[in-house]
Amino acid sequence: MAHTPQKASVCGTLWRKRVYLRIVKNVLMRYSKFAAILLCLIIAGPMSAQESDVNSRDLRGKVVYEDDEVVFRQLDEHTWIGNGHRCYNESLYLVEGNDRAVLIDAGTNISKLDKIVAGITSKPVTLMLTHGHGDHVGGAKPFTEVWVAPADEPMFKGNVRRYKGEIKHLTDGQVIDLGGRQLEVMYTPGHTSGSVTFFDKANHYGFSGDAFGSTNLLVFTYLSNVVASATKVEKYIKDNDIKFLFPGHYSGDNLESPKRVSDLKEMCQEVLDGKRQGIKSDGNNGGNDMMIEDRGVRVTFSSQNGIK
Ligand SMILES: [Zn+2]
Repeated sequence: MAHTPQKASVCGTLWRKRVYLRIVKNVLMRYSKFAAILLCLIIAGPMSAQESDVNSRDLRGKVVYEDDEVVFRQLDEHTWIGNGHRCYNESLYLVEGNDRAVLIDAGTNISKLDKIVAGITSKPVTLMLTHGHGDHVGGAKPFTEVWVAPADEPMFKGNVRRYKGEIKHLTDGQVIDLGGRQLEVMYTPGHTSGSVTFFDKANHYGFSGDAFGSTNLLVFTYLSNVVASATKVEKYIKDNDIKFLFPGHYSGDNLESPKRVSDLKEMCQEVLDGKRQGIKSDGNNGGNDMMIEDRGVRVTFSSQNGIK
């Protein structure tokens, strides 16, 4: 049966548009050097299209750290989320095992992020990135090493100038052992060429960056990449009973569901097959001039380069 998203009220939609446009304006005025951030901003996306049973978590977890740039809250006993406010709740995730911890992404403009996370976990922390956009790498500088997929290394270097640490490469299928807890890396290109998703199989969830779930999917590569990535993720979800994915911009009610992953795969395939036509994109989507919207999923892409 087709999933029918709840429709936001016109009033609510207009309000959201105003809020988003104000955020865009502020970011543009204050952080022009982070223009790449705008690629991740979601303008007037369909906010209400999630399945409520999936979104049982929210942003009411215990606050364990707070300053002007980031708030960290506890998600479960050994997992925390940090939310920035520069780019639509850009999200960081601190994932702790018995021996070590991984910090997934580094926000937009967080200084001394290494010290912040050291105050939350006593375990040594390794920084790993879902992709190279400016709102996911901005706090990377103090870390002595950073892990990123090779395809997004140039983007990382462009956004973190004069990074002095060692850049290491995440590999597809890599298993990161934290001691009694494992993260598995899956390449999921589409949003960017080097986008990755991290899975915590035992806990039945993952961390998808902007590859899946950050409300609108902005495709800066090709729709065929999205179809291939979603096909892999769909299978992994089924095989491992993954319940949801924590996205790179988590607002408390937009966990990515297995159904949305399948829906967006089908929708992108339909465009490639000529069965579905894109319409003109109605906002600043990082230069993406086309979009498709259905079943609570919105995907934007370039009519010039995206349809292949
Ligand atoms: Zn992004």
